[in-house]
Amino acid sequence: MLAKLRRFVRSSAANVLHYSGAADSWRLLRQRALHKDEVCVFGLHRVLTNAERSLSNSLDGMVVTEATFARLLEYLQGEFRVVSFEALFAEERQIDRSKPRCLLTFDDGWKDTYTRAYPWLKKFGMPAIVFLATGAIESRRGFWVEELRRLWRMPEARGQLKSDLRRLAGQRGDELGELEQAVEWLKHMPTATRDSFLAQLIPQELKNAEPDPVDCMLSWNEVLEMSRAGIDMGAHTVTHPLLTFENFDTVERELRVSKSVVEEKTGKSVPALAYPNGDWNEDVRRCAEQVGYRCAFTTRPGWFERREDPYTIRRILLHEGNVTDRHGDFSPAMLSLTLAGRV
Ligand SMILES: [Zn+2]
Repeated sequence: MLAKLRRFVRSSAANVLHYSGAADSWRLLRQRALHKDEVCVFGLHRVLTNAERSLSNSLDGMVVTEATFARLLEYLQGEFRVVSFEALFAEERQIDRSKPRCLLTFDDGWKDTYTRAYPWLKKFGMPAIVFLATGAIESRRGFWVEELRRLWRMPEARGQLKSDLRRLAGQRGDELGELEQAVEWLKHMPTATRDSFLAQLIPQELKNAEPDPVDCMLSWNEVLEMSRAGIDMGAHTVTHPLLTFENFDTVERELRVSKSVVEEKTGKSVPALAYPNGDWNEDVRRCAEQVGYRCAFTTRPGWFERREDPYTIRRILLHEGNVTDRHGDFSPAMLSLTLAGRV
């Protein structure tokens, strides 16, 4: 009994420390953000119901549940001013110093941006910007990562997949025991090389099989409806390559074509780009500027200050694991720790 009580006291103390630490972080961040006029740019990918989440083949780091998303917006409404993309660069003569500012961004163009996130954005009257990988719009399947995970989840196929990965990766083969490691390895290579590997890894029958309906992309009609309702649309290349592995002509084409396609479809100018996987280098950055973007978003963690380079805007990526507590409920304390870069 006594031991039980002791354990209870200890875990409560840990909780108090955890939460007071989070509260301190939040106070400091808040002060700094208001003082330096920083904006917190949140990066999201997918918003899914619990049922959809269990069917989806997207990696956990891409997903927040709909319940968490709703609680997150409720919290942001109280603690932040959720601003539109335009406000990121607007000169504010009289800056409202009561709350820090944040911007909501969604990458890729998943259908759930329309079916799950958009209704909540409307309900709270919040702006956002969606970065579209234009070649994937209207697609009924996700990206190669979802295909790979689908295969990985099949008990009868996993053994073969692992041995194929080991063979293809050569010396690095032994490091690829987990799916996440295999994905990281396959991400960091030119598209042509990856495609030739994927052709050997993913059987043709699977590519032809009926895709999981939950991992669908937006349609242009859905893009248009959101755009007309004031949700900003940005570009996220055409085929979602890691730009740092591609030659200049490919980078230029990916950046230029995606921009013009979104402009043509929405009838609005597209000043913003999100680099796939957040990856950029000096050449890619320069190309974004030359193609006519006004700014570009990375996944380098941190808050954006207006005086910083607009082509390397930092973001805080949110997913279920870094905004919920151990019971799976949205936790302001966890969000504060994530904002402070401690999770
Ligand atoms: Zn992406």
